[in-house]
Amino acid sequence: GSLTVGELSEKLGKDSSEIIKKLMMLGVMATINQQLDSETIELICDDYGVEVEEEIVVDKTDLENYIVEDNEEDLIVRPAVVTIMGHVDHGKTTLLDSIRHTKVTEGEAGGITQHIGAYQIESNNKKITFLDTPGHAAFTSMRSRGAQVTDIAILVVAADDGVMPQTVEAINHAKAAEVPIIIAVNKIDKEGADPSRVMQELTEYELVPEDWGGDTIFVPLSALQGEGIDDLVEMINLVAEVEELKANPEQTASGTVIEAQLEKGRGSVATFLVQNGTLKIGDSLVVGTTYGRVRAMVNDLGKRVTEAGPSTPVEVTGLNGVPHAGDRFVVFTDEKQAKQIADLRSQKQVEEDRGSSAKVNLDDLFEQIKQGEMKEINVIVKADVQGSVEAVAASLQKIEVEGVNIKIIHTGVGAITESDIILAAASNAVVIGFNVRPDGNAKRTAETENIDIRLHRVIYKAIEEIEAAMKGMLDPEY
Ligand code: GDP
Repeated sequence: GSLTVGELSEKLGKDSSEIIKKLMMLGVMATINQQLDSETIELICDDYGVEVEEEIVVDKTDLENYIVEDNEEDLIVRPAVVTIMGHVDHGKTTLLDSIRHTKVTEGEAGGITQHIGAYQIESNNKKITFLDTPGHAAFTSMRSRGAQVTDIAILVVAADDGVMPQTVEAINHAKAAEVPIIIAVNKIDKEGADPSRVMQELTEYELVPEDWGGDTIFVPLSALQGEGIDDLVEMINLVAEVEELKANPEQTASGTVIEAQLEKGRGSVATFLVQNGTLKIGDSLVVGTTYGRVRAMVNDLGKRVTEAGPSTPVEVTGLNGVPHAGDRFVVFTDEKQAKQIADLRSQKQVEEDRGSSAKVNLDDLFEQIKQGEMKEINVIVKADVQGSVEAVAASLQKIEVEGVNIKIIHTGVGAITESDIILAAASNAVVIGFNVRPDGNAKRTAETENIDIRLHRVIYKAIEEIEAAMKGMLDPEY
Protein backbone atom coordinates (compact mmCIF):
# COMPACT_ATOMS: atom_id res chain seq x y z
CA GLY A 1 0.00 0.00 0.00
CA SER A 2 0.99 3.65 -0.03
CA LEU A 3 0.88 6.37 2.60
CA THR A 4 1.49 10.12 2.61
CA VAL A 5 4.42 11.53 4.57
CA GLY A 6 1.94 12.87 7.12
CA GLU A 7 0.23 9.51 7.54
CA LEU A 8 3.55 7.74 7.91
CA SER A 9 4.77 10.20 10.54
CA GLU A 10 1.58 9.61 12.49
CA LYS A 11 1.93 5.84 12.34
CA LEU A 12 5.56 5.99 13.41
CA GLY A 13 4.94 8.63 16.04
CA LYS A 14 7.74 10.78 14.58
CA ASP A 15 7.77 14.37 13.49
CA SER A 16 7.00 14.79 9.78
CA SER A 17 9.91 17.23 9.35
CA GLU A 18 12.21 14.49 10.60
CA ILE A 19 10.83 12.09 7.98
CA ILE A 20 11.16 14.71 5.26
CA LYS A 21 14.83 15.08 6.23
CA LYS A 22 15.37 11.35 6.03
CA LEU A 23 13.69 11.30 2.65
CA MET A 24 16.00 14.05 1.44
CA MET A 25 18.94 11.94 2.46
CA LEU A 26 17.49 9.19 0.31
CA GLY A 27 17.31 11.69 -2.53
CA VAL A 28 13.54 12.11 -2.34
CA MET A 29 12.23 15.65 -2.13
CA ALA A 30 8.85 15.35 -0.46
CA THR A 31 6.12 17.47 1.03
CA ILE A 32 3.85 16.37 3.87
CA ASN A 33 1.09 15.35 1.45
CA GLN A 34 3.35 13.39 -0.85
CA GLN A 35 2.35 9.79 -1.51
CA LEU A 36 5.12 7.35 -0.75
CA ASP A 37 5.38 3.93 -2.38
CA SER A 38 5.81 0.82 -0.27
CA GLU A 39 9.49 0.54 -1.07
CA THR A 40 10.24 4.03 0.29
CA ILE A 41 8.04 3.43 3.31
CA GLU A 42 10.03 0.29 4.04
CA LEU A 43 13.35 2.17 3.82
CA ILE A 44 12.19 4.79 6.31
CA CYS A 45 10.76 2.18 8.67
CA ASP A 46 13.99 0.19 8.42
CA ASP A 47 15.84 3.28 9.51
CA TYR A 48 13.70 3.49 12.62
CA GLY A 49 14.01 -0.25 13.20
CA VAL A 50 10.32 -0.72 12.63
CA GLU A 51 8.98 -3.70 10.72
CA VAL A 52 6.35 -3.04 8.10
CA GLU A 53 3.21 -5.08 8.35
CA GLU A 54 1.05 -5.01 5.26
CA GLU A 55 -2.45 -4.19 6.25
CA ILE A 56 -4.69 -6.89 4.87
CA VAL A 57 -8.30 -6.07 4.31
CA VAL A 58 -10.35 -9.16 5.04
CA ASP A 59 -13.83 -9.52 3.63
CA LYS A 60 -15.73 -10.76 6.65
CA THR A 61 -18.54 -12.10 4.51
CA ASP A 62 -16.32 -14.31 2.38
CA LEU A 63 -16.43 -17.81 3.86
CA GLU A 64 -13.18 -18.76 2.13
CA ASN A 65 -11.41 -16.36 4.48
CA TYR A 66 -12.32 -18.56 7.43
CA ILE A 67 -10.84 -21.71 6.01
CA VAL A 68 -7.56 -22.64 7.62
CA GLU A 69 -4.92 -23.71 5.18
CA ASP A 70 -3.64 -27.28 5.49
CA ASN A 71 -0.08 -28.41 5.89
CA GLU A 72 0.94 -30.62 3.01
CA GLU A 73 1.88 -33.45 5.40
CA ASP A 74 -1.63 -33.56 6.90
CA LEU A 75 -3.24 -34.33 3.57
CA ILE A 76 -4.34 -37.84 2.77
CA VAL A 77 -6.05 -39.42 -0.24
CA ARG A 78 -9.78 -38.79 -0.47
CA PRO A 79 -12.45 -40.35 -2.73
CA ALA A 80 -13.07 -38.82 -6.15
CA VAL A 81 -16.31 -36.95 -6.75
CA VAL A 82 -17.85 -37.83 -10.09
CA THR A 83 -20.59 -36.22 -12.19
CA ILE A 84 -22.28 -37.99 -15.07
CA MET A 85 -23.10 -35.88 -18.11
CA GLY A 86 -24.36 -36.44 -21.62
CA HIS A 87 -27.22 -36.02 -24.05
CA VAL A 88 -30.76 -36.79 -22.93
CA ASP A 89 -31.67 -40.50 -23.20
CA HIS A 90 -28.09 -41.59 -23.67
CA GLY A 91 -28.33 -43.46 -20.36
CA LYS A 92 -27.06 -41.19 -17.55
CA THR A 93 -29.73 -42.21 -15.06
CA THR A 94 -29.48 -45.86 -16.01
CA LEU A 95 -25.72 -45.72 -15.53
CA LEU A 96 -26.04 -44.06 -12.11
CA ASP A 97 -28.52 -46.72 -11.02
CA SER A 98 -26.45 -49.52 -12.45
CA ILE A 99 -23.26 -48.41 -10.69
CA ARG A 100 -25.12 -48.03 -7.45
CA HIS A 101 -26.78 -51.42 -7.62
CA THR A 102 -23.71 -53.37 -8.58
CA LYS A 103 -21.43 -51.68 -6.07
CA VAL A 104 -23.35 -50.50 -3.06
CA THR A 105 -25.31 -53.56 -2.05
CA GLU A 106 -22.20 -55.76 -1.99
CA GLY A 107 -20.73 -54.43 1.22
CA GLU A 108 -23.77 -52.88 2.77
CA ALA A 109 -26.17 -55.80 2.85
CA GLY A 110 -29.54 -54.69 4.09
CA GLY A 111 -28.86 -51.04 3.49
CA ILE A 112 -31.79 -49.24 1.94
CA THR A 113 -30.53 -46.78 -0.60
CA GLN A 114 -31.70 -43.29 -0.01
CA HIS A 115 -31.81 -40.47 -2.51
CA ILE A 116 -29.92 -37.62 -0.90
CA GLY A 117 -28.35 -36.16 -4.04
CA ALA A 118 -25.17 -38.18 -4.04
CA TYR A 119 -24.00 -41.66 -3.17
CA GLN A 120 -20.79 -43.46 -2.45
CA ILE A 121 -19.59 -46.83 -3.65
CA GLU A 122 -16.62 -48.92 -2.67
CA SER A 123 -14.58 -51.07 -4.98
CA ASN A 124 -11.15 -52.61 -4.28
CA ASN A 125 -11.13 -50.71 -0.99
CA LYS A 126 -11.43 -47.44 -2.84
CA LYS A 127 -14.45 -45.21 -2.46
CA ILE A 128 -15.98 -43.07 -5.19
CA THR A 129 -18.69 -40.45 -4.69
CA PHE A 130 -21.25 -39.95 -7.45
CA LEU A 131 -23.41 -36.86 -7.69
CA ASP A 132 -26.93 -38.03 -8.29
CA THR A 133 -28.16 -35.20 -10.45
CA PRO A 134 -26.78 -35.97 -13.87
CA GLY A 135 -26.22 -33.30 -16.43
CA HIS A 136 -24.19 -30.22 -16.98
CA ALA A 137 -26.90 -27.77 -15.92
CA ALA A 138 -26.62 -28.75 -12.27
CA PHE A 139 -22.88 -28.83 -12.61
CA THR A 140 -22.71 -25.32 -14.03
CA SER A 141 -25.27 -23.79 -11.71
CA MET A 142 -23.11 -24.97 -8.81
CA ARG A 143 -20.08 -23.54 -10.48
CA SER A 144 -21.83 -20.22 -10.95
CA ARG A 145 -22.20 -20.11 -7.16
CA GLY A 146 -18.47 -20.58 -6.84
CA ALA A 147 -18.49 -24.24 -5.97
CA GLN A 148 -16.31 -26.76 -7.70
CA VAL A 149 -17.27 -30.17 -6.44
CA THR A 150 -16.64 -32.46 -9.39
CA ASP A 151 -13.23 -34.08 -9.78
CA ILE A 152 -14.03 -36.25 -12.79
CA ALA A 153 -16.76 -36.01 -15.44
CA ILE A 154 -18.19 -39.11 -17.08
CA LEU A 155 -19.50 -38.26 -20.52
CA VAL A 156 -22.13 -40.77 -21.60
CA VAL A 157 -22.54 -41.15 -25.35
CA ALA A 158 -25.00 -43.70 -26.74
CA ALA A 159 -23.25 -45.87 -29.30
CA ASP A 160 -26.37 -46.00 -31.46
CA ASP A 161 -26.84 -42.25 -31.52
CA GLY A 162 -23.38 -40.66 -31.37
CA VAL A 163 -22.44 -37.11 -30.46
CA MET A 164 -25.52 -34.92 -30.02
CA PRO A 165 -26.00 -31.24 -29.08
CA GLN A 166 -26.02 -31.81 -25.33
CA THR A 167 -22.95 -34.03 -25.66
CA VAL A 168 -21.12 -31.02 -27.02
CA GLU A 169 -22.57 -28.77 -24.31
CA ALA A 170 -21.39 -31.19 -21.64
CA ILE A 171 -17.89 -31.32 -23.13
CA ASN A 172 -17.71 -27.54 -23.07
CA HIS A 173 -18.95 -27.30 -19.51
CA ALA A 174 -16.45 -29.91 -18.31
CA LYS A 175 -13.61 -28.25 -20.20
CA ALA A 176 -14.53 -24.84 -18.80
CA ALA A 177 -14.22 -26.33 -15.33
CA GLU A 178 -10.95 -28.06 -16.27
CA VAL A 179 -12.28 -31.39 -15.12
CA PRO A 180 -10.88 -34.59 -16.66
CA ILE A 181 -13.38 -36.44 -18.86
CA ILE A 182 -13.88 -40.19 -19.17
CA ILE A 183 -16.05 -41.31 -22.08
CA ALA A 184 -18.64 -43.99 -21.36
CA VAL A 185 -19.72 -45.36 -24.74
CA ASN A 186 -23.11 -46.70 -23.71
CA LYS A 187 -25.72 -49.04 -25.19
CA ILE A 188 -23.19 -51.30 -26.89
CA ASP A 189 -25.78 -54.08 -26.53
CA LYS A 190 -28.06 -52.36 -29.01
CA GLU A 191 -28.37 -53.24 -32.62
CA GLY A 192 -26.74 -50.54 -34.68
CA ALA A 193 -24.33 -49.65 -31.89
CA ASP A 194 -21.12 -48.28 -33.37
CA PRO A 195 -18.59 -47.37 -30.68
CA SER A 196 -15.88 -46.51 -33.19
CA ARG A 197 -18.15 -43.91 -34.74
CA VAL A 198 -18.48 -42.27 -31.32
CA MET A 199 -14.69 -42.24 -31.00
CA GLN A 200 -14.34 -40.77 -34.46
CA GLU A 201 -16.88 -38.02 -33.75
CA LEU A 202 -15.28 -37.09 -30.45
CA THR A 203 -11.86 -36.54 -32.01
CA GLU A 204 -13.33 -33.28 -33.28
CA TYR A 205 -13.49 -32.13 -29.66
CA GLU A 206 -9.93 -33.15 -28.82
CA LEU A 207 -11.10 -36.29 -27.09
CA VAL A 208 -8.87 -38.86 -28.71
CA PRO A 209 -8.49 -42.46 -27.50
CA GLU A 210 -5.10 -43.71 -26.42
CA ASP A 211 -4.96 -46.19 -29.29
CA TRP A 212 -5.18 -43.29 -31.69
CA GLY A 213 -2.45 -41.30 -30.03
CA GLY A 214 -4.58 -39.32 -27.61
CA ASP A 215 -5.01 -39.56 -23.87
CA THR A 216 -8.76 -39.87 -23.41
CA ILE A 217 -10.12 -42.97 -21.75
CA PHE A 218 -13.06 -44.62 -23.53
CA VAL A 219 -15.05 -47.35 -21.78
CA PRO A 220 -17.58 -49.28 -23.88
CA LEU A 221 -20.47 -50.43 -21.73
CA SER A 222 -24.10 -51.30 -21.40
CA ALA A 223 -25.61 -49.49 -18.45
CA LEU A 224 -28.77 -51.53 -18.93
CA GLN A 225 -27.09 -54.94 -18.79
CA GLY A 226 -24.32 -54.00 -16.40
CA GLU A 227 -21.60 -54.83 -18.89
CA GLY A 228 -18.43 -52.74 -18.57
CA ILE A 229 -19.43 -51.12 -15.27
CA ASP A 230 -16.44 -52.67 -13.50
CA ASP A 231 -14.12 -51.30 -16.17
CA LEU A 232 -15.56 -47.84 -15.77
CA VAL A 233 -15.12 -47.93 -12.00
CA GLU A 234 -11.55 -49.11 -12.46
CA MET A 235 -10.84 -46.25 -14.86
CA ILE A 236 -12.32 -43.73 -12.45
CA ASN A 237 -9.97 -45.02 -9.76
CA LEU A 238 -7.08 -44.76 -12.18
CA VAL A 239 -7.83 -41.14 -13.08
CA ALA A 240 -8.44 -40.32 -9.42
CA GLU A 241 -4.99 -41.65 -8.59
CA VAL A 242 -3.38 -39.49 -11.27
CA GLU A 243 -5.25 -36.45 -9.96
CA GLU A 244 -3.84 -37.00 -6.45
CA LEU A 245 -7.05 -35.96 -4.73
CA LYS A 246 -6.33 -35.16 -1.12
CA ALA A 247 -7.87 -33.66 2.00
CA ASN A 248 -7.23 -33.32 5.71
CA PRO A 249 -9.80 -35.21 7.81
CA GLU A 250 -8.51 -33.54 11.00
CA GLN A 251 -9.49 -30.09 9.82
CA THR A 252 -12.76 -28.34 10.71
CA ALA A 253 -15.18 -29.22 7.97
CA SER A 254 -16.01 -27.24 4.85
CA GLY A 255 -17.82 -28.20 1.68
CA THR A 256 -20.76 -27.56 -0.59
CA VAL A 257 -24.52 -27.99 -0.57
CA ILE A 258 -25.63 -30.56 -3.13
CA GLU A 259 -29.34 -30.02 -2.62
CA ALA A 260 -31.66 -28.65 0.05
CA GLN A 261 -35.34 -28.37 0.79
CA LEU A 262 -37.88 -27.80 3.50
CA GLU A 263 -39.44 -31.02 4.77
CA LYS A 264 -42.49 -31.45 6.91
CA GLY A 265 -41.52 -32.32 10.45
CA ARG A 266 -37.80 -32.07 9.77
CA GLY A 267 -37.40 -28.45 8.78
CA SER A 268 -34.53 -27.52 6.53
CA VAL A 269 -32.86 -30.61 5.11
CA ALA A 270 -29.64 -30.17 3.16
CA THR A 271 -27.27 -32.64 1.57
CA PHE A 272 -23.69 -31.59 2.08
CA LEU A 273 -20.67 -32.83 0.29
CA VAL A 274 -17.88 -32.57 2.82
CA GLN A 275 -14.82 -31.49 0.85
CA ASN A 276 -12.31 -31.04 3.61
CA GLY A 277 -12.20 -31.91 7.28
CA THR A 278 -14.72 -34.00 9.18
CA LEU A 279 -18.23 -32.81 9.91
CA LYS A 280 -19.59 -33.83 13.32
CA ILE A 281 -22.89 -33.74 15.15
CA GLY A 282 -23.13 -30.48 17.09
CA ASP A 283 -20.82 -28.52 14.77
CA SER A 284 -21.82 -24.87 14.30
CA LEU A 285 -21.72 -23.72 10.73
CA VAL A 286 -22.52 -21.09 8.17
CA VAL A 287 -24.13 -22.24 4.92
CA GLY A 288 -24.81 -19.66 2.28
CA THR A 289 -26.77 -17.09 4.21
CA THR A 290 -28.03 -19.56 6.80
CA TYR A 291 -26.44 -20.95 9.93
CA GLY A 292 -27.10 -23.60 12.51
CA ARG A 293 -25.79 -26.62 14.35
CA VAL A 294 -25.68 -30.09 12.92
CA ARG A 295 -28.56 -31.78 14.69
CA ALA A 296 -28.52 -35.08 12.81
CA MET A 297 -26.76 -36.61 9.84
CA VAL A 298 -28.02 -39.38 7.58
CA ASN A 299 -25.88 -41.03 4.91
CA ASP A 300 -26.84 -42.29 1.45
CA LEU A 301 -27.92 -45.64 2.93
CA GLY A 302 -30.40 -43.94 5.22
CA LYS A 303 -28.24 -44.62 8.28
CA ARG A 304 -27.64 -42.09 11.02
CA VAL A 305 -24.00 -41.17 11.32
CA THR A 306 -22.13 -39.01 13.82
CA GLU A 307 -19.40 -37.80 11.49
CA ALA A 308 -18.62 -37.44 7.81
CA GLY A 309 -15.14 -37.12 6.33
CA PRO A 310 -13.82 -35.74 3.02
CA SER A 311 -15.86 -36.50 -0.14
CA THR A 312 -18.72 -37.94 1.94
CA PRO A 313 -22.28 -36.87 1.14
CA VAL A 314 -24.58 -36.53 4.16
CA GLU A 315 -28.02 -35.19 4.74
CA VAL A 316 -27.94 -32.61 7.50
CA THR A 317 -30.70 -31.11 9.65
CA GLY A 318 -30.41 -28.19 12.05
CA LEU A 319 -30.10 -25.15 9.80
CA ASN A 320 -32.20 -22.04 10.32
CA GLY A 321 -33.08 -21.79 6.63
CA VAL A 322 -32.89 -23.56 3.32
CA PRO A 323 -29.59 -22.95 1.50
CA HIS A 324 -29.09 -23.25 -2.27
CA ALA A 325 -27.37 -26.03 -4.14
CA GLY A 326 -23.83 -24.83 -4.68
CA ASP A 327 -23.68 -22.79 -1.46
CA ARG A 328 -20.51 -23.31 0.53
CA PHE A 329 -20.57 -24.36 4.17
CA VAL A 330 -17.86 -23.77 6.75
CA VAL A 331 -17.76 -24.99 10.36
CA PHE A 332 -17.02 -22.46 13.11
CA THR A 333 -15.95 -23.31 16.63
CA ASP A 334 -17.87 -20.32 17.91
CA GLU A 335 -21.62 -20.50 17.38
CA LYS A 336 -22.06 -16.77 17.97
CA GLN A 337 -19.53 -15.97 15.29
CA ALA A 338 -21.33 -18.30 12.91
CA LYS A 339 -24.60 -16.46 13.46
CA GLN A 340 -22.89 -13.10 13.06
CA ILE A 341 -21.29 -14.04 9.78
CA ALA A 342 -24.50 -15.55 8.44
CA ASP A 343 -26.30 -12.31 9.30
CA LEU A 344 -23.64 -10.25 7.55
CA ARG A 345 -23.91 -12.52 4.56
CA SER A 346 -27.68 -12.23 4.30
CA GLN A 347 -27.48 -8.44 4.61
CA LYS A 348 -24.98 -8.40 1.79
CA GLN A 349 -27.22 -10.69 -0.24
CA VAL A 350 -30.17 -8.33 0.18
CA GLU A 351 -28.04 -5.43 -0.97
CA GLU A 352 -26.74 -7.36 -3.93
CA ASP A 353 -30.24 -8.43 -4.94
CA ARG A 354 -31.39 -4.85 -4.77
CA GLY A 355 -28.47 -3.63 -6.80
CA SER A 356 -28.41 -6.38 -9.36
CA SER A 357 -29.42 -5.44 -12.87
CA ALA A 358 -33.03 -6.22 -13.52
CA LYS A 359 -33.77 -9.47 -15.30
CA VAL A 360 -35.62 -9.12 -18.55
CA ASN A 361 -39.34 -9.12 -17.90
CA LEU A 362 -42.08 -8.47 -20.40
CA ASP A 363 -43.93 -6.23 -17.95
CA ASP A 364 -41.21 -3.61 -17.95
CA LEU A 365 -39.53 -4.52 -21.20
CA PHE A 366 -40.57 -1.25 -22.83
CA GLU A 367 -38.96 0.71 -19.99
CA GLN A 368 -35.74 -1.22 -20.43
CA ILE A 369 -35.81 -0.70 -24.19
CA LYS A 370 -36.46 3.02 -23.74
CA GLN A 371 -33.48 3.35 -21.45
CA GLY A 372 -31.41 1.83 -24.19
CA GLU A 373 -30.57 -1.12 -22.00
CA MET A 374 -31.76 -3.62 -24.50
CA LYS A 375 -31.03 -3.96 -28.18
CA GLU A 376 -31.72 -7.65 -28.39
CA ILE A 377 -34.18 -9.70 -26.44
CA ASN A 378 -33.04 -13.24 -25.69
CA VAL A 379 -35.79 -15.82 -25.85
CA ILE A 380 -35.98 -19.54 -25.11
CA VAL A 381 -38.82 -21.39 -26.83
CA LYS A 382 -40.21 -24.68 -25.59
CA ALA A 383 -43.20 -26.40 -27.22
CA ASP A 384 -44.98 -29.74 -27.28
CA VAL A 385 -43.96 -30.62 -30.83
CA GLN A 386 -41.07 -29.69 -33.07
CA GLY A 387 -43.38 -28.08 -35.65
CA SER A 388 -44.65 -25.58 -33.09
CA VAL A 389 -41.14 -24.86 -31.84
CA GLU A 390 -40.14 -23.90 -35.36
CA ALA A 391 -43.30 -21.91 -36.05
CA VAL A 392 -43.04 -19.90 -32.83
CA ALA A 393 -39.32 -19.30 -33.25
CA ALA A 394 -39.70 -18.20 -36.87
CA SER A 395 -42.51 -15.75 -36.08
CA LEU A 396 -40.63 -14.31 -33.12
CA GLN A 397 -37.53 -13.72 -35.17
CA LYS A 398 -39.53 -11.64 -37.62
CA ILE A 399 -40.51 -9.14 -34.94
CA GLU A 400 -38.54 -5.97 -34.91
CA VAL A 401 -39.64 -2.90 -33.04
CA GLU A 402 -37.60 0.28 -33.27
CA GLY A 403 -34.28 -1.40 -33.81
CA VAL A 404 -34.81 -3.97 -31.11
CA ASN A 405 -34.97 -7.55 -32.29
CA ILE A 406 -35.46 -10.99 -30.84
CA LYS A 407 -32.77 -13.59 -30.57
CA ILE A 408 -33.73 -17.21 -30.03
CA ILE A 409 -30.96 -18.64 -27.87
CA HIS A 410 -32.40 -22.09 -27.29
CA THR A 411 -35.35 -24.17 -28.43
CA GLY A 412 -36.62 -27.56 -27.45
CA VAL A 413 -39.53 -29.97 -27.33
CA GLY A 414 -41.06 -30.81 -23.97
CA ALA A 415 -41.71 -29.27 -20.58
CA ILE A 416 -39.77 -26.22 -19.45
CA THR A 417 -36.98 -27.61 -17.30
CA GLU A 418 -34.63 -26.25 -14.71
CA SER A 419 -31.84 -26.37 -17.27
CA ASP A 420 -33.84 -23.98 -19.48
CA ILE A 421 -34.24 -21.63 -16.53
CA ILE A 422 -30.55 -21.77 -15.65
CA LEU A 423 -29.71 -20.93 -19.23
CA ALA A 424 -32.26 -18.11 -19.15
CA ALA A 425 -30.73 -16.76 -15.96
CA ALA A 426 -27.22 -16.94 -17.36
CA SER A 427 -28.22 -15.23 -20.62
CA ASN A 428 -30.98 -12.95 -19.32
CA ALA A 429 -33.71 -14.50 -21.43
CA VAL A 430 -37.50 -14.78 -21.41
CA VAL A 431 -38.92 -18.30 -21.61
CA ILE A 432 -41.91 -18.92 -23.86
CA GLY A 433 -43.82 -22.16 -23.47
CA PHE A 434 -46.24 -23.26 -26.14
CA ASN A 435 -48.60 -26.01 -24.98
CA VAL A 436 -46.07 -26.97 -22.30
CA ARG A 437 -45.59 -26.06 -18.67
CA PRO A 438 -42.58 -25.68 -16.39
CA ASP A 439 -41.92 -28.67 -14.16
CA GLY A 440 -41.66 -28.25 -10.38
CA ASN A 441 -37.93 -27.57 -10.28
CA ALA A 442 -38.16 -25.14 -13.16
CA LYS A 443 -40.95 -23.25 -11.41
CA ARG A 444 -38.99 -22.95 -8.17
CA THR A 445 -35.79 -21.90 -9.89
CA ALA A 446 -37.64 -19.39 -12.05
CA GLU A 447 -39.03 -17.81 -8.90
CA THR A 448 -35.70 -17.48 -7.17
CA GLU A 449 -33.90 -16.40 -10.33
CA ASN A 450 -36.64 -13.99 -11.34
CA ILE A 451 -37.16 -15.49 -14.78
CA ASP A 452 -40.20 -14.47 -16.79
CA ILE A 453 -42.05 -17.51 -18.17
CA ARG A 454 -44.90 -16.94 -20.62
CA LEU A 455 -47.25 -19.80 -21.41
CA HIS A 456 -49.49 -19.87 -24.46
CA ARG A 457 -51.82 -22.18 -26.34
CA VAL A 458 -52.20 -20.11 -29.49
CA ILE A 459 -49.18 -19.06 -31.51
CA TYR A 460 -50.38 -15.65 -32.53
CA LYS A 461 -51.08 -14.77 -28.88
CA ALA A 462 -47.47 -15.50 -27.98
CA ILE A 463 -46.27 -13.29 -30.78
CA GLU A 464 -48.77 -10.55 -30.00
CA GLU A 465 -47.78 -10.48 -26.36
CA ILE A 466 -44.11 -10.01 -27.02
CA GLU A 467 -44.73 -7.40 -29.69
CA ALA A 468 -47.01 -5.49 -27.34
CA ALA A 469 -44.39 -5.67 -24.60
CA MET A 470 -41.78 -4.24 -26.92
CA LYS A 471 -44.08 -1.36 -27.80
CA GLY A 472 -45.03 -0.72 -24.20
CA MET A 473 -48.60 -1.69 -24.87
CA LEU A 474 -48.86 -4.75 -22.71
CA ASP A 475 -51.93 -4.92 -20.49
CA PRO A 476 -50.69 -5.00 -16.95
CA GLU A 477 -51.17 -8.30 -15.20
CA TYR A 478 -53.06 -8.31 -11.93
P1 GDP B 1 -30.76 -40.15 -19.52
O1 GDP B 1 -31.79 -39.24 -20.08
O2 GDP B 1 -29.41 -39.88 -20.10
O3 GDP B 1 -30.74 -40.20 -18.02
O4 GDP B 1 -31.11 -41.62 -20.06
P2 GDP B 1 -31.81 -42.81 -19.30
O5 GDP B 1 -30.91 -43.45 -18.33
O6 GDP B 1 -33.15 -42.38 -18.82
O7 GDP B 1 -31.98 -43.84 -20.50
C1 GDP B 1 -32.80 -43.57 -21.63
C2 GDP B 1 -33.29 -44.85 -22.24
O8 GDP B 1 -32.19 -45.63 -22.72
C3 GDP B 1 -34.03 -45.73 -21.25
O9 GDP B 1 -35.14 -46.32 -21.89
C4 GDP B 1 -33.00 -46.78 -20.87
O10 GDP B 1 -33.57 -47.98 -20.51
C5 GDP B 1 -32.21 -46.92 -22.17
N1 GDP B 1 -30.84 -47.36 -21.93
C6 GDP B 1 -29.94 -46.82 -21.06
N2 GDP B 1 -28.78 -47.50 -21.12
C7 GDP B 1 -28.95 -48.49 -22.02
C8 GDP B 1 -28.10 -49.55 -22.49
O11 GDP B 1 -26.96 -49.72 -22.10
N3 GDP B 1 -28.64 -50.37 -23.43
C9 GDP B 1 -29.91 -50.22 -23.88
N4 GDP B 1 -30.34 -51.08 -24.83
N5 GDP B 1 -30.73 -49.26 -23.46
C10 GDP B 1 -30.25 -48.40 -22.52
